[in-house]
Order: sequence, then structure tokens, then C-alpha cells
Amino acid sequence: NTGTVIVGAGQSGAQLALSLRELGYPNRITLIGDEEHLPYQRPPLSKEYMSGQLADSELPLRTADYYKKHAIEVVTADPAAQISREDATVTLASGRRVPYRQLVLATGARNRRLPFEGGEPANVHYLRTRDDAARLREALGGAKNVLIVGAGFIGLEFASVARLAGAHVTVVEMADRVMGRAVSEEISAYFAARHTAWGTEVLCSTSIDEFQRAEDGRVTAVRIGDRTLPVDLVLVGIGVLPNAELAQEAGLAVGNGIIVDSGLTTSDPAIYAIGDCASHPRPETAGLVRVESVQNAADQARFLARRLCGQGGHYTDVPWFWSHQTGDKLQIAGLSQPTDTTVVLGEPDTGRFSIARIRDGRLAAVESVNSPGDHLASRRLLANGVHVSEEQLRQPGFALRKAIH
Ligand code: FAD
Repeated sequence: NTGTVIVGAGQSGAQLALSLRELGYPNRITLIGDEEHLPYQRPPLSKEYMSGQLADSELPLRTADYYKKHAIEVVTADPAAQISREDATVTLASGRRVPYRQLVLATGARNRRLPFEGGEPANVHYLRTRDDAARLREALGGAKNVLIVGAGFIGLEFASVARLAGAHVTVVEMADRVMGRAVSEEISAYFAARHTAWGTEVLCSTSIDEFQRAEDGRVTAVRIGDRTLPVDLVLVGIGVLPNAELAQEAGLAVGNGIIVDSGLTTSDPAIYAIGDCASHPRPETAGLVRVESVQNAADQARFLARRLCGQGGHYTDVPWFWSHQTGDKLQIAGLSQPTDTTVVLGEPDTGRFSIARIRDGRLAAVESVNSPGDHLASRRLLANGVHVSEEQLRQPGFALRKAIH
């Protein structure tokens, strides 16, 4: 009696199990997790959970009873250690062997780490898991001087919360602008100014020359050029690496993540990959992409559930994303590329505006600040393949919602 085995009990793995049952999938479902907790939401970890507005009990996606009632076996704290494709079995760290008919890899990603001589200092933190967040939140309570390495989403969201908690906050970024990999120059400039007004010192095009350490290894200060900044707590947010080793060791095709086709199948037709770990083709881009977002994790899971229940098709859902910082809501629809040009919709000075990103003369993605109407309209336009030309976007008074037919 084999069924679907899902490795990784995070956002995409849990969604797949739930969607399979919603669609009436009749076989066994085993969801294998390496964390102590039942599947939970990650976005609040750097936002409402970090600021104390959301309790531990509100993080799980479903209760233990829910999984039980829907005959989903959730294994916690027992990572998958090996895949044997010859006998279609996954071996867990405990030695348990779990046979599969279909195997889904939903292993997510882990943080890139900074190398420290002699081991990681106790006051250097990373933020990916619920346990990371609990430790960081406690440390923030007693911290006066917070240093954040990396001005990506996680670093800036934490900076925002750390300022609210009353800490003195410095963000150090090697690139010349904040969130540079993900957003347009206009959005970077807006948020750099907002963080500065929020009281955070944002240092771009900057690297740390020296971490000064106490005898117990803790970081006490950093040297940046001729400045020395005192430090009680460091958060490193310099991006993630896909968890693809299990797939690689099993001989599956791996590049920047586990390589899948437009049906989310790996190089083995009985094995699939979804979420942060999956490198997949997209209609709007030439190569393979790996998308790190709840939308991608959840939509790929829903798509795969339909496939495992017998439907065909290609995964083409429009990516979207959000981030909360400095009291502002940033929402992104579509996948932008560094070569896209931009049109500003609205007035950045009012704190409500959008940036349309243009490729080949048409709308390709939209970044909205405090403009949920623009965000929803752009998602619909992109999902329906509506051609919105650069000329239209540049017309005075143009509104995205008016382009929806
Ligand atoms: P994950 O949710 O990471 O789940 C993968 C799971 O697999 C993990 O529990 C991992 O430990 C486990 N695993 C790995 N290897 C094994 C193994 N061998 N055996 C068993 N288990 C294994 N996205 C947004 O869209 N908006 C946001 O505002 C946002 N905020 C975020 C804030 C934080 C602090 C973080 C960390 C992420 C945020 N994200 C946000 C990103 C989003 O949470 C991820 O894109 C999403 O969780 C990806 O889902 P996933 O299932 O692919 O991976």
C-alpha cells in the first residue's frame, strides 16, 4: 500500500498533502519533516511574530487533529537521509524505510552562512525556521545595538521590527542598493529613504572589514573603514541555497536547485520537486528559475496535486510576493529582470504608487507600495495575458484596473 511520500514538511509539502486530500486522492500520504514542529507559516517569523503581535500558537498551518482526520501521516524531526530509486524507498535518519509510488521533494532552502574562524559566535543569528525566530526574538529583547548583514527582504523586515523594539540598527549591504536582486531602483530608493527615516542606518556599497570578538567568541563590534560600531546582536540575511543534496545524491538532475520540467517532474518520472528547492521553466523567461515565495510554494503544490490525481498541463501561475517594512506594504506581481525598463504609476512622495516593469514594449511585472488595488489588477492582467503596452502605461492618468476588460 504505497502512496505519495513528500520530503519536507514546509509550506509546499503541507499544501500538497492538503490539496491531494481535497481532490479525493485515495492513497497513503506521508509528509516527512526534519523540524520538531508541525508545518507552519514562515512569513510572520520576520514580521508579526518577531514584533510579538502573533503568538506561537498561530503559526501552524493546520492542527495535529486536522492531519489525523485527513489520514496524512506527518513525521517530525526525522529527516530523509537517502533516496533509493531502485526500490522506490526513502530512508529516514532514524533508519525507517518509507516506500513510495510517487516521491515529492519539497525540501525548501537554507540560509547562506558567513564563515567565522573558530565557529559561529553565539550572538550571530540567521532566520529561516521557527526555532531561529524564537531565539532571535529573545535576543532582540536585550539588544541595544543590532547589526544586519544584507539588505534583502529578511534583513530589512527584521531591521524594521528591531527599530520598533528600540534598538539602534545598522544595515550593511555590499550591493549599491537595498533589495537590489528583486526590485527596481525606484523601489530600492523609496525603501532606503523610509528605513533611514525610521531611524536605521543603511550602508550600501559597504562591507565589514573586521568582526571584533570577545573571549567567548561573541561579536562585540565591527570595523567598517575607519569606523567601529558596537554590536550586541548580528542578523545575517545574505540569501539562501536550495536543499538539493538529497536529489543530487540520488542522481537526479540538479543545477540551481532540483531541475524539473513544466509539469514539475524531475529527471526521474516518479519524482517531483516543488517550492523553493525547484528550478523550473517559465513561459516568460528563457532559462530555469527558482522562485522563493509562498505563492510559488502553494501554487506549485496545488498544481502537482491535480497532476497526481490524473490531470495534465504545465505550471504557468503568475508569481507574486509581499513584504512588510517600515509600516509600508510592498507587493510584487510577475517576475522582473534586471534589463526591464520602468514606468512610475502615481506619486512616490505620497507613499502610494506602483512601478511597472516593461520588457519588449509590454508590461512584465508590477511593484506596488501601499497600493493593493494596483497589485490585484496587475495579477489579473498578467494571468490573463492582457497586452498592456508601454505607450498605454505612459499615458497620463493611466490606471492598471482600467486595463482589465
Ligand atoms: P520551506 O517552507 O522552507 O519547507 C521546507 C522544509 O523541508 C523545511 O522544514 C526543511 O527543514 C525541510 N527539509 C529540508 N530537507 C529535508 C530532509 N532531507 N528531510 C525532511 N525535511 C527536510 N514569502 C512570501 O511570499 N512572502 C513573505 O513575506 C515571506 N516572508 C518570509 C519570511 C521569512 C523569515 C522566511 C524564512 C521566508 C519568507 N518567505 C516569504 C519565503 C517563504 O516562506 C518560502 O518561499 C516558502 O516557505 C517556501 O516553501 P517550501 O515548502 O519550498 O520550503
